[in-house]
Amino acid sequence: MIGTKQELPNEVQEWKDQLGKLPRHGAIMHLFIAIDAEGLDLSHIEDPAHLVIQDWGRSMQDSQNLCSFFIPSILDKSLCPEGKHVIHVYSSGGEPYEPWEKLQPGSEEYEEYKKERAEVLWKAVERCIPDVRDRVEFSIIGSPLAHEAFLRRDRGTYGMAWAAGTGAPQSGLLSSVLPFPFPNLKTPIDGLLRCGDSCFPGIGTPSAAASGAICANTMNPVGKHLDLLEEASKRDPLYKFLNPGIMGRVYQPLVEGMTPSTELKVEQTQNA
Ligand SMILES: Cc1cc2nc3c(=O)[nH]c(=O)nc-3n(C[C@H](O)[C@H](O)[C@H](O)COP(=O)(O)OP(=O)(O)OC[C@H]3O[C@@H](n4cnc5c(N)ncnc54)[C@H](O)[C@@H]3O)c2cc1C
Repeated sequence: MIGTKQELPNEVQEWKDQLGKLPRHGAIMHLFIAIDAEGLDLSHIEDPAHLVIQDWGRSMQDSQNLCSFFIPSILDKSLCPEGKHVIHVYSSGGEPYEPWEKLQPGSEEYEEYKKERAEVLWKAVERCIPDVRDRVEFSIIGSPLAHEAFLRRDRGTYGMAWAAGTGAPQSGLLSSVLPFPFPNLKTPIDGLLRCGDSCFPGIGTPSAAASGAICANTMNPVGKHLDLLEEASKRDPLYKFLNPGIMGRVYQPLVEGMTPSTELKVEQTQNA
């Protein structure tokens, strides 16, 4: 454990304060629907994911303008009984959190505001299923407060929002040459690394997974990465492209001395 605020070394406190104040996106509104699909022909829909923009003249950050909806049961029939569909609709990550934090969940005011803010989500699905409201068997709105509680995202945020073109604080030495809009995985604590969508390369499941891979690579010698890639490439023809081949082995001696990252001082920690 790092300890309480008073016990933190200055460098760590500074790092924590700096990262805690970085700009972030707004929150997300959700609408979950289960419908009766009797007589509903969705065979023209090839992709179950749709992005709906109400007005191209308005910002795509505006949660009352940009929404997405997914009908996963088009692809996976096991998600609901035959003749039904499940739909998830959600706004952009630009839903302002401030009006929500003043409301008491369960209060009349809160329920009214939920309905008002979710109207745009219904309208988005109506573009595809015009009579969706008549077909509803179950529906529930997820406010930013629900998003915050269930996904444990601070203030329901979609994630960190550093403007492109400049390097974010704590994004490493290279950020003076190339603008890295996300902090890197290093911390001022020996052997402690971060990963996830608040680290480089940023928001999204592939990026969050990549930050985990960077983290693992940082802790291991390059020879281990190459062995792992080679092993994975043999598992399935699909992964053949992962084989580092001869170029990997040429690259290995060039960077071997720098891996695992000396900044992590893992060896010192282990020897201590
Ligand atoms: C509605 C929505 C749609 C999205 N669509 C896409 C998409 O189509 N494609 C895409 O690539 N990305 C999408 N994203 C973004 C993507 O989901 C995230 O960037 C990614 O999941 C982040 O992964 P993570 O591991 O960093 O964080 P998270 O997935 O948020 O995981 C963090 C975990 O830590 C847990 N946690 C938090 N605090 C604590 C604590 N104090 N103690 C213990 N556990 C804790 C949380 O419960 C959570 O399980 C979407 C996000 C949302 C909300």
